[in-house]
Amino acid sequence: MRFKMDFKTLPRCGAKARSNFSKPCRQAAMKNGRCYYHGGAIPIKHGRNTKEAKAERTQSRRLISEIRKSHSTLKDLINDKGDKHVSC
Ligand SMILES: [Zn+2]
Repeated sequence: MRFKMDFKTLPRCGAKARSNFSKPCRQAAMKNGRCYYHGGAIPIKHGRNTKEAKAERTQSRRLISEIRKSHSTLKDLINDKGDKHVSC
């Protein structure tokens, strides 16, 4: 059985369109009630903003900052030893 959809009966976007002398947009509406042009952001599907991905990025940032801190303390220690060595 083939589902036949009548384009004229579909719900319309209704957003105020600049290109149409400020009349309501006549595009067919999506689930959010607006058309493709006026519907806002498209949901991201690649998983960059999932809880797991955010937690992983936070953890890696924390690790990087810890490594930088330890690296700078090592540098300070080496410089201190170098100063002592030079002063002897
Ligand atoms: Zn629209």
